[in-house]
Formats: sequence, structure tokens, C-alpha cells
Amino acid sequence: MNFEDEWLENDVAVASAPAPQENRFQSREYRPSRGRGGGGRGRNDGYWRERGNNGDVRTTQRRNYQQNDGNKKNISVPSQMVGRIIGKGGSKIRELEQDSGAKIKIGDAEGDYSSITLIGSEAAVSKVEGLINELIEDNRPAPPPKENLNNSTGSSDYLKKNESGVEVIDWDKLNAAYEQEQQNRWQNLPPIVKDFYKEDPTVTSMPPAEVARWRRANHDIQVKRTFDDKPGLRPIPNPVLTFEQAFQHYPEILDEIYKQGFKQPSPIQSQAWPILLRGEDLIGIAQTGTGKTLAFLLPALIHIDGQTIPKEQREGPTVLIMAPTRELALQIDKEVSKYQYRGIKSVCLYGGGDRKEQIKVVSKGVDIVIATPGRLNDLVMARHLNIINFSYIVLDEADRMLDMGFEPQIRKSLFDVRPDRQTVMTSATWPPGVRRLAESYMKDPIQVNVGSLDLAAVHTVTQKLLFLEEDDKEPALFDFLMNMDPNDKVIVFCGKKATATHITTELCLKGIECQSLHGDRDQSDREAALEEMVDGTVNILIATDVASRGIDIKDLTHVVNLDFPRHIEEYVHRVGRTGRAGRTGVSLTFVTRHDWAQAGELIKILEEANQEIPEELELMAKRFESMKLRREHEGGRGGRGGRGGRGGRGGGGRRDRW
Ligand code: AMP
Repeated sequence: MNFEDEWLENDVAVASAPAPQENRFQSREYRPSRGRGGGGRGRNDGYWRERGNNGDVRTTQRRNYQQNDGNKKNISVPSQMVGRIIGKGGSKIRELEQDSGAKIKIGDAEGDYSSITLIGSEAAVSKVEGLINELIEDNRPAPPPKENLNNSTGSSDYLKKNESGVEVIDWDKLNAAYEQEQQNRWQNLPPIVKDFYKEDPTVTSMPPAEVARWRRANHDIQVKRTFDDKPGLRPIPNPVLTFEQAFQHYPEILDEIYKQGFKQPSPIQSQAWPILLRGEDLIGIAQTGTGKTLAFLLPALIHIDGQTIPKEQREGPTVLIMAPTRELALQIDKEVSKYQYRGIKSVCLYGGGDRKEQIKVVSKGVDIVIATPGRLNDLVMARHLNIINFSYIVLDEADRMLDMGFEPQIRKSLFDVRPDRQTVMTSATWPPGVRRLAESYMKDPIQVNVGSLDLAAVHTVTQKLLFLEEDDKEPALFDFLMNMDPNDKVIVFCGKKATATHITTELCLKGIECQSLHGDRDQSDREAALEEMVDGTVNILIATDVASRGIDIKDLTHVVNLDFPRHIEEYVHRVGRTGRAGRTGVSLTFVTRHDWAQAGELIKILEEANQEIPEELELMAKRFESMKLRREHEGGRGGRGGRGGRGGRGGGGRRDRW
């Protein structure tokens, strides 16, 4: 029985009970009213069917369905209002109970309504009922205008006759009503305070030539409006060159930075902080290791604290950070927990983690949610997580989230987030999918490119290549591992989970201690594996690309690429696991003739990082290019006519030519 089943078997909890019951109780509140199963929230489909049965899309008024039963009274309220009655971490319901002397029991939802039982003396019940009424009336969204809904009571209002006299859905009307309903949902929320930036006079007075010079010298940063630079948009702010220029008005934030011992802002931080503190949407084309987490985190802390309604009284958290993998989410969480600011609390929600515990933490009240898309969507849909007040959203490593197929979850989760929020997106690359996401969810974003291959870490890594045949890889790896220095720490990257498992087993049989990290392992095992690497229990980690981004093992001395990665960007990520935090590192990449398609790109990376370019690699790149030309030529003369295998994997007879 999973947590949810177990929970459903419990009777309704009484709100005034101690914390664990409050959680159950809150869980129940969020669950049933929209529990129509995934996918029912399509813009023109499930959403309206769900609400359109009685045609009343604004059914927010409370109705009584059962009268006084001694000192117990059952009332029914719109399910969407239950969150308000409970309040953050149960604060509102406690207040209502204290003020009235009655107990409040939240019951099941029926359709769009949830039942609530009020228990106490007659006077107490009557008082609490009045208080609940006030709460609901105060927050009731305005009804949609008559021209849209025609004061309708039936779903037939959204039908019209087509030219043949057949009744069809009037999508225009339905869409207009939908838009109106969406507006109504947000209009009672307080406006989001976004601008927290007071530009330092020295930053304001930086001459444009000086700004341009600084950008060139700092990873050749490029800054621009991603889409049209419409009239009326503010000019792109100058970078800040010191922490003080960014945060002099937030001394507690400065103190937190000083505690970390950082010398100066990283390039992305210098350029992103003024943009984010000013409340603008930002796209950061930057990789892990560039300081991007802190770039979006510190403005987020100021944003949380700067809203008009104090965070304790806000319903639900304020900041959402979405990350593609559990490892990255946990790493962001770790980074977040390093910075204490005005009691801001965070939670990390990820698949494979203890769902029950995660729900418990969320319901106690948090300000920042760091989540993987699947678990986030799960908790939002199950109504454990109230997203009404998310006003600062980060999509971290958006390209990777799309690569991993999370687009539907991202879109589903963002569907209900207030549209006037501030949105940040980071991505290592800028493919069309990420651009589409930015178009859908961002408003006039400013884009800061730190240069996708300009990873500082790669510049601190000596990148070695070993050219060999496929069958020779394994012995070469074992040879390397057997001869490691006792202080060395290494990640070995494999192309497949099966290879990682095989190598791990072989090492165990040889009595060499190691850990493994790949998608087939349980979350707890993956965490344990990382933990053991970090604390030095083991010094060899066999991994797939699950570990290629985001993992921060400061004293990692070596990266071995047993299999060349499928995409060259992954190479940069893998290699960037070492040479971190001011240290140097070594990468050793096994290259076989099968990898010739990547040779050209690899040369560019090595050149850029001032590494030696082996002659074999240059030859591989040349041969690959001439093969491509030859193919094009052959194609031009009428196709490849059965010669497609040439030069490809295992293309027999041309072994000498790679
Ligand atoms: P990230 O790119 O967010 O994964 O950050 C990589 C590492 O850089 C983290 O361990 C940060 O603590 C560290 N870091 C962030 N900002 C700075 C900075 N300004 N100077 C030095 N290290 C930093």
C-alpha cells in the first residue's frame, strides 16, 4: 500500500490535531476536487467538461447542504477555497478555531465542492461559519462578464449551429470564457513586487566601451533581448563587478556571500544579478560550474522577502526551481541550504525520494520548492502542493529537461502558475525546443550567453586521449585503475547502464572497491554512491551520463571516458566534473575509430582550452570530413547505392583509415 492509499483509508483528520494529522488533513484537501486523472486539463477539453456540467464556471459561493445537527454542522465550500481556509501549514484554520472556539473538520470533495464539519457550541459553530463565509466572500473571484458566459447555467451555452444546422462546440466562446476565468483566478492576488535593484553609481557610469571590454574579457559574454527588442523595454543593465555593487542594500545577503569566501562574482552572476534584481525574465545560456545557481538564487531570496504579504501568511511557496535530475535537484538544494536569509525554507521534491516525507515538509510551509518535473507534477495534480503564489520560477537546464522528455510535465505544471511571475531559464544549449518554451512562458526575456564551450572547469583540466580498439578499452581501464595514486579520485563514464554494471562487477571481482551511479539504481543507492565518493569511502565511481552534469565532487582528480559521449556537449560536462573549485584535474578519453564523427568538435574544444591536439585526432577528423564529402558526391550522382556501411560503425575493410 502506498502512502496515498494508506492515507485514504484513514478517516478525516481533525484540523486542531497536532502536526502529523494536519498534514494528512491538508493532503486530503488538495486531492480530490480535480482528481479526474492526468490529461484532463486540456485547454478546451477536460477543464471545461469538468466544470461545465452545470455550466457554472464561477461556482465559488458556499452552499449549505445539511442543517444544524446538534453542535455539529456540515457546510459545503468550493474545493478551490479549502486551501484558503487551511492557510499555510494550517495557520488559517488554527486561527479560525481559536477565534471561534469551534473545531473544523475538512471532509471529502464532491465535484467542485468539499464538505466541512463544524463542531462546538452553537455560538462557536455559528461564529466559525460566519468567519469562513467572510473568508470565501472576500476571495471570491469576480464572475465572468455576461457577454462571455451569457449568465449561463448549461454547457449548451458553448454549442452553436454550423452551416448545416448541426450543433458543434463554439470554441471562440469557450476560449473567451476560459481566458476570462483565468484572469479571474489571478485578479485577487496581490501584485508581485519585482524591482529590488538600485544601481550603484559606479555601475551606471561605466562607459559602453568599458562594458563591452569587460564582457569580451569574461568568457565573451553576450547579452541581448531574446525576442524583439520592443520600444519601451528598458536597456540592458551594465554588469556589476563586485558583490557590493549588487547587494549593498541587502547586507545580510552580503554576509552570506562573505561566509563562502568567494572573491568576486562569476561572469554570469555579474550580468544576471542586475537583470534579475530588476525583475526581468532571464535566459542564462550557461553550464554547471559557472555559478549559475547563485545567479538565480540570491535574487530569489530577495524576491521572497520583498513581497507585500509576509511569507508566513502566503498560501503556498513563492519560488519554484525545476531541475531535470534528482542529482541536480539535490545539488541545488544543497547550494540553497548554504544561504540563510530571513528564515526562508526550502524543500527538494524528487521521484524516488520519500514522498510522504516530502508532502509533510511541504504542508508545514516552505518558500522555495526545488523539484524534478515528474514529482512536481505528481504533487501538484494530487493537490499536495499549492502553486497559486509561485511568483519566481526557474527552469534549470531546460535543454536537458526537454531531452529527457519532460516537456508535458513542465507545461502541465506551469499551466496554473500566475502569468505575471518572473521566469528564469538556464540551458547549456539553445535548441528550438528551448526557444519554444521561452516563447510560451517568458516575457521579453534578456538572454545572457556565457559561451557553451567556455566552461572555466575545462580550462583547468588536462585533457588526454588514448586511441585504441574497442576490445582494448577494458584492459586499459583496469590498468589505469590499478595504478591510481591512493589520493586519486575518479569517475569512469560509460555509454550504457549495462556497461557500468559490468565494469562495477569486474572491479568487485578483482577486489577493487568502487561505487556505481546510473539510472537503474534506486535513488537511495544513487545518493549513497555519491555520498561515499564525496566522503572518500570509495574513490572510484562508475557512472553513466546521469552523473555528467551538476555533480560536484570537489577533490575529483580524474575523469575517464571509457566510451566517448554521444554528444560533444556531454564531453564538456563530463570533463568539467574535475578541475573544480580552483583545483586542476585530468581527463582521459578512450577514442576508437567509431568516434570519428566527433573528432572535429573535439579538436575545437581542445584548441579552445589550449590542449595538445594529437595527430591521430586530426587525421580522424580529416577522414570523416572527406567521407562526408564523398558521400555527398555519391549521393549527387544517384544515391549511395548499397555503400552506406562504409565508414560507419564496424564498416569492415577500412580499419586502416580511421
Ligand atoms: P554552479 O554553476 O551553480 O553549479 O556552481 C558551481 C560552484 O561554484 C558551486 O560550488 C558554487 O558554490 C561555486 N560558486 C558560485 N559562485 C561563485 C563565485 N562567485 N566564486 C567562486 N565560486 C562560486
